[in-house]
Amino acid sequence: MPWKNSQYKPNTVDVTIPPGRANATILMLCRNSDTDNAVRSIRELEDKFNRKYHYPIVFLNEEEFSEDFKKRVTNVASGNVQFGLIPHDHWFQPDWIDEARATASRNKMVQDNIIYGGSVSYRNMCRFNSGFFYRHPLLQNYKWYWRVEPWNNPGLYAQLTTTINHYLGFTITMYEYHATIPTLWDTVKQFTKDHPEYVAPHNAMHYMSDNGGDSYNLCHFWSNFEIASMDFWRGEAYTKYFEYLDATGGFYYERWGDAPVHSIAAALFANKTQIHFFDDIGYEHNPYTHCPKGNGKWAKGKCSCNPERSFDYDGYSCMRQWDRIQ
Ligand code: GDP
Ligand code: MN
Repeated sequence: MPWKNSQYKPNTVDVTIPPGRANATILMLCRNSDTDNAVRSIRELEDKFNRKYHYPIVFLNEEEFSEDFKKRVTNVASGNVQFGLIPHDHWFQPDWIDEARATASRNKMVQDNIIYGGSVSYRNMCRFNSGFFYRHPLLQNYKWYWRVEPWNNPGLYAQLTTTINHYLGFTITMYEYHATIPTLWDTVKQFTKDHPEYVAPHNAMHYMSDNGGDSYNLCHFWSNFEIASMDFWRGEAYTKYFEYLDATGGFYYERWGDAPVHSIAAALFANKTQIHFFDDIGYEHNPYTHCPKGNGKWAKGKCSCNPERSFDYDGYSCMRQWDRIQ
């Protein structure tokens, strides 16, 4: 794989973790044009959660952050803030991708009205979030991250302490658009055939497949909110899996999202108890909301979300598939 031969060598930063706090960082990938929304998102996360914990925040971008961006987000953060430039080879479409084929596929998706179907930058982003972010030098000394996006209302009621002990945590699960991943499942099946040793004994496969793994039911954990362990992404199974997927060019010839790529890996290579539903965290990302409802959580958390709007059992939600494996 070309990125293996990259000149880029991750180095490490010295991060001291105070007692009682997890080895975790808040993580936001965004552009300078997202400044207003990044500030609002961090302001809300601070007010609702981080003012008590002062977790550091890492911002990543494929361009240098502007002085204005740095100044304004630093102003609302209660902990250490760092700004990272993404190495070129971790972001941009690799040279070995057949551009004619990629262009033809994008044009077809535009005709078919597939969301982000014509976007190369969206594909770069999905590939970066699938296989590269956890290799960034600024993340090397962290084990956990809480992914947030510019202005997507995270953390109405949340606890992120040293007790977190899962690989992947989510608040919203739903169906993916089949047209964005037509060959992903067959690719995964081929990989697991070659590497049965990576499939976990008590996996969550029955959440993702209604027929014993024959076909994919499109269920995935929405990744715009993600509290996860980078040890899992950095481990052998996921590393080999990502290399295998990437080599097919599917991130560019199709439009594979990091959400199904992460979700399928967690559901196959982790035991199902290592995937955690953060029911306690109210979270909104347009157009959907997860609002804590059960066991008085909404009142206890003083939640501002409307519990009537919680996505959990919406027709497009995969919570039923999640429930059936519990
Ligand atoms: P959606 O949630 O699938 O509609 O995708 P978003 O537009 O929210 O993008 C997902 C995340 O990637 C967000 O945190 C964005 O700020 C970030 N992002 C998307 N495209 C780019 C890009 O071209 N450059 C940078 N630096 N960040 C991006
Ligand atoms: Mn988004």
